[in-house]
Amino acid sequence: MWLSRIIGGMKVLLISPYELGRQPFSLAHAAALLRARDHEVVLIDLAQGSLPREGLEDFDLIGISLGMHTATRIATSLLPMLRAKAARARLVCYGVYAPPNRGLLEDLGVDVVLGPEFEDELVALTGGEEPDKGAKVAFVVPDRKGLPALTRYAHLQLPDGGRKTVGFVEASRGCKYLCRHCPLVPVYEGRFRAIPRDLVIADAAQQIEEGATHLSFGDPDFLNGPTHALRLLETLHERWPHITFDATIKISHILAHRDLLPRLREYGCLFMTTAAESFDDTVLGFLDKGHTGEDIRHAVVLARQAGIAIAPTFVPFTPWTTLDGYIDLLTQVRDLGLINSVSPIQLAIRLLIPEGSYLLRIPGFRDRLKPFAEAILGYPWQNPDPRVDALQARLQTWVEHVEGGGHDRLSAFAGLWRLAHEASGRKAPPLAADGAGPHIPRLSEPWYCCAEPTTSQLARCAVGA
Ligand code: SF4
Repeated sequence: MWLSRIIGGMKVLLISPYELGRQPFSLAHAAALLRARDHEVVLIDLAQGSLPREGLEDFDLIGISLGMHTATRIATSLLPMLRAKAARARLVCYGVYAPPNRGLLEDLGVDVVLGPEFEDELVALTGGEEPDKGAKVAFVVPDRKGLPALTRYAHLQLPDGGRKTVGFVEASRGCKYLCRHCPLVPVYEGRFRAIPRDLVIADAAQQIEEGATHLSFGDPDFLNGPTHALRLLETLHERWPHITFDATIKISHILAHRDLLPRLREYGCLFMTTAAESFDDTVLGFLDKGHTGEDIRHAVVLARQAGIAIAPTFVPFTPWTTLDGYIDLLTQVRDLGLINSVSPIQLAIRLLIPEGSYLLRIPGFRDRLKPFAEAILGYPWQNPDPRVDALQARLQTWVEHVEGGGHDRLSAFAGLWRLAHEASGRKAPPLAADGAGPHIPRLSEPWYCCAEPTTSQLARCAVGA
């Protein structure tokens, strides 16, 4: 029996295929739980290194963290080799993207598929106590030993050319909203929970000791629990007044908690990432975002009044996008002085529809989709106007080109602006050379979790794999 081999500690390999420049919490947290039970745990971040050439056959359990779409795409290309080389290991995939892709993962040889609240079951798989049904994971301080140094991950670029080493922390899990396109929604169904403050502080402390001078909060939404967030920041600021931070905060929270913004600034908030998605109220309605285009404009003003930079993200290409709507989005980005605040890839992203997406609940929507495609881990769709799909493909190629070639954001935007106008048969109005808005602090690797990976991302990670 498989469990009979595990007495005396197992040899466990935990793999993160890709977390967009972040040191993976999902590996460090699992490592802490398993090492506390005397298992030998090896951590591999494929974005920074590669799998061991030898010795895969020695592992008893291999866990792969699938917290992102791109990670899952990389994992599916890796699994046949892992299955063959680690024949006796129990293969486990865990994270937000594991349950929706259960069938495919099992076909590729995965033995156990766990969701994002995976820790207790992972412990049980290594001979630990069986989890109580419905019990919540007891968090511990992540054990980051064995992961590459923070300096190898995304750093913070400051407008004056300075840079800061970034620590990556999480203060909560899940989300209390039900945005239809969000991959968290089918798994968390509107629930979220706070990670105890002392654990977050201890995790921040160990990264500050490692040299972090800026913390990036990876919470799906930092203000799902505003009291928890504020108390945490208060303590962090008291202990390390020089530490700055960034967080993801949704538009409706920026509006609802406008009174808190000055305190966020006081505690060191340099910028907020916010999922604006679209300025088109019809599209926002389909996505059930809970905000309007006008709310986005208002949130930009509130953030600037509080002295916090705002970095909107978008899903500009959807089945409902029109050429005029896309040009309007670019126009609003320009008029709001956000060209320097928006990563160019955000203006070329195509909506992903994974298995279980709440978009599939829109009456009649499924009829507009092609059957689920394993190659993209989603339901392919076409815009009713083929010029829109053609434009998106051209823009994606353009963005990949500019990201590899040292273009500034204004010249990247100018290419998108020209191509969009060309697609609709119009001459692009000139862009003012000084109209790109303020330069803002930003991470050296742009964050977008649920978009199609770019060719360069896949290529870079394939090297590690
Ligand atoms: S898109 Fe953001 S606010 Fe909406 S459910 Fe997902 S994490 Fe929550």
